[in-house]
Amino acid sequence: MLIVNEETCRKVMTRPAAYDAVEAVFGAMARGDARNFPVVREAIGHADALYGFKSGFDRASLVLGVKAGGYWPHNAEKGLTNHQSTVFLFDPDTGRLSALVGGNYLTALRTAAASAISINHLARRDVKVLGMVGAGHQSAFQLRAAAEQRDFERVVAWNYHPEMLPALGKVAEELGLPFEAVSREALGAEADVIITITSAHEPLLMQEWIRPGTHIACMGTDTAGKQELDPAIFASATVFTDEVEQSISIGEAQHAIARGLIRPEDITPIGAVINGDHPGRRSEDEITVFDGTGVGLQDLAVAWAAAQAAQEQGISEEIVL
Ligand code: NAD
Repeated sequence: MLIVNEETCRKVMTRPAAYDAVEAVFGAMARGDARNFPVVREAIGHADALYGFKSGFDRASLVLGVKAGGYWPHNAEKGLTNHQSTVFLFDPDTGRLSALVGGNYLTALRTAAASAISINHLARRDVKVLGMVGAGHQSAFQLRAAAEQRDFERVVAWNYHPEMLPALGKVAEELGLPFEAVSREALGAEADVIITITSAHEPLLMQEWIRPGTHIACMGTDTAGKQELDPAIFASATVFTDEVEQSISIGEAQHAIARGLIRPEDITPIGAVINGDHPGRRSEDEITVFDGTGVGLQDLAVAWAAAQAAQEQGISEEIVL
């Protein structure tokens, strides 16, 4: 059994490798080759923690496993990341544990890969301005991955806690992109592509602020009750997601569904676009939304890629259970 710790994940896993792994598994999900199993998420009644499992199997790549972990809100005081997770991969032929992979760095990479995939497949080719809503831990990963998909000329950003924006500005600077903190209205007016990655529980962007032709990757909403967008945006947009079941229950679409603004059948898995079964964007004026909810198969796909890379480079530990 391989052990691939957090440090090794950082060494061996690249953004392009994460992109490829996540794109392939989204395609497999849409073909019916890969399936996420029901998610378990429970408050454990200790340390205010939320703990759970995300698991699944991809028959195309033969990746079977589970990501276990959750959210420990007081970790920051101990110098630890609040989100903690570990991926367990199993041999699908025997059920034996084949790898134990640190999940913290990989979660950020796979989440950024999902929005990057949506930008690549759904954004107009001529986009110039990237709008960032959110400036927390995930935002830098999101910005770096998005910048690889189009020739952006500048970044406009808004965050609920404005004091967090300069750190994101530094990332933009590293990427050679001018960075400006703006109001939410200005962000809607200027951005061609918008990424939302916050823990908000109310709409941050209103429909009347969004221009025709905009692509929005809505990445923060991954739990019932969270919200980043005016649900009216969904009624006027073409909506894509990683997994429809999650999108309508814990994703951003939960609010538009609850108000009867869209139906589940109005939401297309991005894998259908990847597989060439859906055209994706149909016009320059269309507003596209990607509701990135985060599925277990994404975690397993990147963990598998990291384990393979670590083994190839001879820097994984191997133990016998
Ligand atoms: P973080 O705690 O580092 O940052 C939180 C962000 O939300 C900051 O920008 C903060 O200013 C903002 N925020 C906090 N309260 C807010 C409010 N009331 N209104 C508006 N904004 C507010 O978290 P992170 O690790 O960057 O994660 C951001 C979000 O993305 C979280 O909600 C997390 O659960 C979600 N997430 C989603 C996926 C996925 O696959 N879709 C994966 C990882 C994280």
